[in-house]
Amino acid sequence: MSQAHAHTPVDTAEQADLRAAVAAFGRDNLSTPAPDLWAKAGKLGYLGVNLPEAYGGGGGGIAELSIVLEELGAAGCPLLMLVVSPAICGTVIARYGTDAQKSRWLPGLADGSLTMAFGITEPDAGSNSHRITTTARRDGSDWVLTGRKVFISGVDIADATLIVGRTEDTRTGKLKPCLFIVPGGTPGFSYHHIPMELAANEKQFEVVMDAVRLPADALVGDEDAGLAQLFAGLNPERIMTAAFALGMGRHALAKAVDYARTRQVWKEPIGAHQAIAHPLAQAHIEVELARLMMAKAAYLYDAGEDAAAGEAANMAKYAAGEAAVKAVDQAVHTLGGNGLTEEYGLAKLITAARVARIAPVSREMILNFVSHQTLGLPKSY
Ligand SMILES: Cc1cc2nc3c(=O)[nH]c(=O)nc-3n(C[C@H](O)[C@H](O)[C@H](O)COP(=O)(O)OP(=O)(O)OC[C@H]3O[C@@H](n4cnc5c(N)ncnc54)[C@H](O)[C@@H]3O)c2cc1C
Repeated sequence: MSQAHAHTPVDTAEQADLRAAVAAFGRDNLSTPAPDLWAKAGKLGYLGVNLPEAYGGGGGGIAELSIVLEELGAAGCPLLMLVVSPAICGTVIARYGTDAQKSRWLPGLADGSLTMAFGITEPDAGSNSHRITTTARRDGSDWVLTGRKVFISGVDIADATLIVGRTEDTRTGKLKPCLFIVPGGTPGFSYHHIPMELAANEKQFEVVMDAVRLPADALVGDEDAGLAQLFAGLNPERIMTAAFALGMGRHALAKAVDYARTRQVWKEPIGAHQAIAHPLAQAHIEVELARLMMAKAAYLYDAGEDAAAGEAANMAKYAAGEAAVKAVDQAVHTLGGNGLTEEYGLAKLITAARVARIAPVSREMILNFVSHQTLGLPKSY
């Protein structure tokens, strides 16, 4: 199974080498604790493959970073913070940060010695990010940030959090999105753990910002170009969530196929029964289709086609989330009772796969996007 997945027809020779190297690294490090795995992957240059060479990165793109996450997931040791730290935060800083911000953050994000979390979701806004109320007010040359975020991954291990807030447009009075780097430990910035029914190394947190005072250079990029800058980070997030989901789907299917080949309760292994084989074949096809869409989205994004990449990234995230949920469900079922044992480690993927259906943008919000933006249908909300 894993052999059949080793390459995609769209990999360049370098990408195929990277894929093979990360897959081997993942297999060799299955029992390495997550923080050590992160550090080791950083030293090997895997965490910063998408970041500029001038700042210690590999000079590749989201295509390369998605290969890293997909292969780690396929091996069974995904690193969720890849979605956030190098993909969202690293990309936004590399594209829109000042030279000082790039020098301060990118080398560390690339080698894994620094980690950055990302906070957009708010309790009273949820999927409607136009409703976020975290507000940055000017005070002299400083900014004062006030608001609340929920479900923010990895705040406990992050050196800083990239926060999506709003500033007031002096001409229109309207609030517009802006991005701020908030270092951990800044007075007024606090967080607490949200217990989740997820078996994952990365934890989620509620973040409270109570008049957090930040220097002028905490603002990333141009105060007036907030939305474009934000999407420069959100499209990689969607592509990387697809990679996370597809790695998990492949991992679950590989386990199920191995089991179905050898488990025998009648005269043939259970994999000979088409009731077992066909759903696995179907899940495999759906994972492969989603991988192609992910590759398309990454290609468009790396080519600078932001608008086309937005549509493709949404579709890839949708397809990958659905394919992963289905693959995991079928894998669990294939193992019968063993599908629910700790020994085989598949049942815990049931909730983990659901993350990709909900976050960072839910299945329904992608269907809304495609209905309105692609098909031109009217909006209900
Ligand atoms: C494990 C995990 C990690 C996360 N990490 C981060 C992080 O690091 N940073 C961050 O900022 N956020 C993070 N999130 C938050 C995530 O992005 C949100 O949960 C997600 O955007 C959905 O928002 P919500 O939970 O408020 O759901 P809601 O917006 O309340 O939606 C609830 C349900 O209603 C549906 N719905 C809402 N509006 C519509 C509509 N107009 N039409 C049809 N259906 C609709 C949704 O599809 C969904 O099924 C994380 C979430 C999880 C579960």
